[in-house]
Amino acid sequence: MLANLRVAILDSLWPRTCSVEYCGKALGPGDGPFICPECFAALPRDEEGAFDETIFSYCAAFLYEGALPQLIKDFKFNNALYLTEDFAGEMALTVLRKFPDVVFDRIVPVPIHPMRWRQRGYNQSEELANAIGRMINVPVDTKALKRRRNNPHQSLSSRAARLKNLIDSFEVVEPKRLKDCTILLVDDVTTTGSTFTACVKALRTAHVRRICAVALARAVLD
Ligand SMILES: [Zn+2]
Repeated sequence: MLANLRVAILDSLWPRTCSVEYCGKALGPGDGPFICPECFAALPRDEEGAFDETIFSYCAAFLYEGALPQLIKDFKFNNALYLTEDFAGEMALTVLRKFPDVVFDRIVPVPIHPMRWRQRGYNQSEELANAIGRMINVPVDTKALKRRRNNPHQSLSSRAARLKNLIDSFEVVEPKRLKDCTILLVDDVTTTGSTFTACVKALRTAHVRRICAVALARAVLD
């Protein structure tokens, strides 16, 4: 009741509009999401099945196309954390659809380096993981993995170069805690799955049982 009142007051002070840049449609009170239903339906879904690497599988909710690059940029760098629920809802559905038989013990977000955390004040993958955890009722372990060093921006590197750069950049903080667990890894954008691969390499040292991974969006290389 109080929460509803708070939302109603906030809505009257700052009427919400759709977060998609070229839309900006006003969202009435109680609409809930921050992306209007038309834009949300139009976001490109990743229709591929899960990608099976030798030791883990991964999937993505959306394709990194259409309105998503702008939305994700706002989400990652401009503090647009109000998009968390909209994004996490679709990721949770994707997990249930693509890994229907898997029972997860833990959700682990891909960590960012402490230096980036200080710049941004949050880790977008952790925000997504926490929301997904609430939705599918699985505990979230934000301290399971640690990022060892800050990698330079990698947009121009080849897959091999990215992988080499990344492969040793994660470590498990307390291996005992993850032994025999089935883990859902969560990241924002994946291109070739190389960040997931690097996390999996670290997680395997903790003798986990199984690892699946979900990204918010998958970027397709030309
Ligand atoms: Zn819209």
